[in-house]
Amino acid sequence: MSLFAVHAAAAASIAPLRADAQKKQIDYASLRDETVRAMSEYLQINTTNPPGNELATARWLKAFLAKDGIEGEILDTAELGQGRANFFARVKGDGTKKAIALVHHMDVVPANPELWSVPPFSGTVKDGYVWGRGALDMKSQGIIHLLSLIALKRAGVHLTRDIVFIANADEEVEGSGATVFTRRHPDLLKNVEFLITEGEGTNVDHGVVRWFAVGVGEKRAYWLRLVAHGTTAHGSIPRADNPVPRIARAVERVAAWQTPIRLLPAVDRFLKAQATLETGEHRAWLANAAHALETPNGRAYILSDPYRNAILRNTIAPTVLTGSKQTNIIPPVASAELDVRLLPDEDTVAFRRELVRVIDDSSVHVEVMPGVMPSYSADIDTPLVRAVEEEIGVLLPGVLVTTPLAAGATDRPTYSHAGIQAYGLEPYIVEDSEEIRGVHGVDERLSIANIEFGLRLITGVIQRMQ
Ligand SMILES: [Zn+2]
Repeated sequence: MSLFAVHAAAAASIAPLRADAQKKQIDYASLRDETVRAMSEYLQINTTNPPGNELATARWLKAFLAKDGIEGEILDTAELGQGRANFFARVKGDGTKKAIALVHHMDVVPANPELWSVPPFSGTVKDGYVWGRGALDMKSQGIIHLLSLIALKRAGVHLTRDIVFIANADEEVEGSGATVFTRRHPDLLKNVEFLITEGEGTNVDHGVVRWFAVGVGEKRAYWLRLVAHGTTAHGSIPRADNPVPRIARAVERVAAWQTPIRLLPAVDRFLKAQATLETGEHRAWLANAAHALETPNGRAYILSDPYRNAILRNTIAPTVLTGSKQTNIIPPVASAELDVRLLPDEDTVAFRRELVRVIDDSSVHVEVMPGVMPSYSADIDTPLVRAVEEEIGVLLPGVLVTTPLAAGATDRPTYSHAGIQAYGLEPYIVEDSEEIRGVHGVDERLSIANIEFGLRLITGVIQRMQ
């Protein structure tokens, strides 16, 4: 709460820009209160996935938009299964520029009520927060998108771009909502140039916003299984072709493999922003990472942070090992699963070829496990990124806008493959500790101050892009 008060005061002192003059048409205090009520209702609809039940939220969205004369469409119910749906609505611009899409997923992960201090589907409003499963990931963001859209329409803001609102089913389990939507409705997406959905968190530590993030890429999960076959035998009379030591050797080699470092433009920009928070040689190394990575000390420092290490290279984490279930039986087969995360532009075939070379044992086979996501990255120099920079300059003066890569997964790759520049933009400034506790955890909540921040940010960014 206090954070926002400081920034709102700072914002008020800034000379009004053209876009700011337009923003005055929106009464943010009453819009915030309306958004709190809407968010509370939306969080009360239980969309735990499985089974999802997103048809109920889609109906709620349709009815809500209808009150402002915006017609929404409930889609894909047959394809997604009983009780499930995607949702689409559009507010038309004059068509001189291409559309912006505001996208969220309606499903949430399960919540164990015994661990929560309020019932997770109560939509409780107390202590300056709206509480409930989805208050961060990501029904809250959907409601901020929704009320931003409505506010722009009510204010009669001249739109050069259509504003498209999309709510998907099933992000948390299979991502089938976005997949089915992009496959079945290319017509609805064909003039969409930019898209905003969930993404990297903004870094907030003890009330200090260290940076504001626009997510521009994702590491891609590329899970592999190493398999070695042998001859089953009794452990008392071992044979040379026991597959267990061969798998163990292969795992040791891949774990020790120092994959090449590659500095992508978005990551370079992210490290440059981090540099401003450091001093001395740490600052110099981060500010010129391309050079520092060539020096032993600079490289060691940059890679000493596990997140920085993960966004500078392909990583391999061996996780599951299988062999025999009995101490005295040599199994006919042994395997190891590798959680491989590739940089967004990595070629999977080339990576596998290198991995086989590193394992250096032709009796160990490399299998690709199902569910490989398409690669995804968005440009870092676009009107959308610039609009976010300008708006954050007003809402959070002096705070850097950075472009991190996500180590996790969202629906962005699916939309990216539909030809859209897809960004992760979380419209709030939530403490890291609070995100870690709430997202897929307990007592998920969003402050009312953050709801106002989100409304100002989204309406501001859209207006700056006209
Ligand atoms: Zn999510």
